[in-house]
Amino acid sequence: MSSPTLTGGCGCGAVRFAIDAPLVAAAYCHCTRCQHRTGTAAQASGRLAPGSLRLLSGAEDVGRWDAGSGLVKDFCRRCGSAVFAEDRDSGEILVVRLGAIDGDPGVRPQARQFVADAAAWEPIPDDGLPRHDGRLPA
Ligand SMILES: [Zn+2]
Ligand SMILES: [Zn+2]
Repeated sequence: MSSPTLTGGCGCGAVRFAIDAPLVAAAYCHCTRCQHRTGTAAQASGRLAPGSLRLLSGAEDVGRWDAGSGLVKDFCRRCGSAVFAEDRDSGEILVVRLGAIDGDPGVRPQARQFVADAAAWEPIPDDGLPRHDGRLPA
């Protein structure tokens, strides 16, 4: 592999990663889990090409929140930053948080999911993106 396409990490720098292929897609999630774990109205995430994210440091600092369904949400145990999410069975990292990426992630969110659960205190932007009440169709 040549130099990575993208790099990123958590706020304190303990967790660092490289991504060796362009992100496949991106979307905003308005679900209540994302509201709680980020403290914001929505989380923007990018879908990884299979196997494209490599941890460079901080494996021992990655905390995991398994809410019982959906992806296991990974965060830095030192600073609390949301970094990525993994399949609960295989442990494969499938999704990266766009805010964890250094610079331009190269993709733009193309849809909004779980808008039925959207925060009361912030209107969903009138940006023309398709809105889904629940999870994005696969
Ligand atoms: Zn950190
Ligand atoms: Zn969510």
